[in-house]
Amino acid sequence: MPISVHTDLIHRYDRPGPRYTSYPTAPHFSSEFTPVDWELAMSENNLTPDRDLSLYVHIPFCDTLCWFCGCTTIISRRKEASARYVDALLREIDLYAERIHPGRRVVQIHWGGGTPTHLSPEQIERVGRHLHDRFRVSGDAEISCEMDPRGLENGHIEALRLVGFNRASIGVQDFNPVVQKAINRIHDEALVGDVVARIRAAGFASINMDLIYGLPHQTPDSFADTLDRVRRLNSDRLAVFSYAHVPWMMPHQKLIHENDLPHPTDKALMLAHVVASLTEEDWTYIGMDHFARSSDDLAVAQRNGTLQRNFQGYSTRSGVDIHAFGMSSISQLPNAYAQHSKQLGAWYDAVEAGRLPLAKGVRLSPDDVQRRHVIMRLMCDMRLDFDALSEQLGVAFPEVFRRELAALDMFMDDGLLEKTHGGLRVTDTGRLFVRNMAMTFDAYLGVGQARYSRTV
Ligand code: SF4
Repeated sequence: MPISVHTDLIHRYDRPGPRYTSYPTAPHFSSEFTPVDWELAMSENNLTPDRDLSLYVHIPFCDTLCWFCGCTTIISRRKEASARYVDALLREIDLYAERIHPGRRVVQIHWGGGTPTHLSPEQIERVGRHLHDRFRVSGDAEISCEMDPRGLENGHIEALRLVGFNRASIGVQDFNPVVQKAINRIHDEALVGDVVARIRAAGFASINMDLIYGLPHQTPDSFADTLDRVRRLNSDRLAVFSYAHVPWMMPHQKLIHENDLPHPTDKALMLAHVVASLTEEDWTYIGMDHFARSSDDLAVAQRNGTLQRNFQGYSTRSGVDIHAFGMSSISQLPNAYAQHSKQLGAWYDAVEAGRLPLAKGVRLSPDDVQRRHVIMRLMCDMRLDFDALSEQLGVAFPEVFRRELAALDMFMDDGLLEKTHGGLRVTDTGRLFVRNMAMTFDAYLGVGQARYSRTV
């Protein structure tokens, strides 16, 4: 059934809040968490060698700067820069592989950035083969790569397939030429169509596309047109992100003129149209910014209650530890997170000296572990099953979280959440505001100086 969304609700709930790809969220990681703490957390975790692994590789380089970008990137066309990076990356992979039980199975690999396909086909093959050499990668592993359609050659696609990639994620953002000029990211529909055809022909099993609403010069009509054109390209998943204009954090965003940004009402209309028109067809609104075809693994995992959420967004692989490689990347264990240095120089210094390049992290308290579990189940399952949560947490969930559950009443009053036998269920419209609901379980909100993007 299509979901219709009142713009009133969007305005009421649109406020700064975390995206909960982790809990505690990254602003609460501390530089007092040292490599020794991380080594200890890793060694404790190796005691369960049957626990599967997910690997993340961060390639920070891009040829040109998109003015809306909020990622950790290095703009460079110099091939020597990526050559040194690849050498250091292989060294870093070795540093971790020495510390991880060799019997552990890798069920998921994701390369993000920056632009992973900034690497040459030879470099892609070298890093990919090294991961396979150092880890036991399962034959049915989900191996995905973010791609920029500009400059993507057949050699890149062949190299990716050669080292096992089977999923692609393509950045589209918007097809309107006026919008593209205002964000310094120009590529036409024909190019993206050609890239999709080449990726499909090479045997990739699944394609995701990223769009952004709230960009300069976008209107509800122009964005609806982009959405129509993207739908014709037949991807399996769509991520439709809200543009976060934070020039105080990302100074290059000052290149975008605030007067050119759409009014919040128009932005709300764009989102309402995306949700209504995709769910009218064969798309499931997973939650947050993500949509998947009803037959896609993501939608199936959500129906089965096995969906997970981590730094790459939603994931089908449950019960895995994430080990990340590359500058700024974040690893996740059951009781700790660790982030690598965001400064390329500091990352090189540590890796080339044979040290883990950690900048900060956090060890989770028992309360953190409980709250993370509740937040993740809410964001993945779109419901809270009180008996199941009591059993999983080993406490009487409705009693321990009485105050937080009372704070959810306003979502029920607005028809975003409803009581079920034994729990609560997020309504179809409520999926849009699940981040706001998760915030009621966050014990860190208001602590420190953390600033977040807006929830809608
Ligand atoms: S290609 Fe992606 S990571 Fe690179 S600048 Fe553009 S948006 Fe940022």
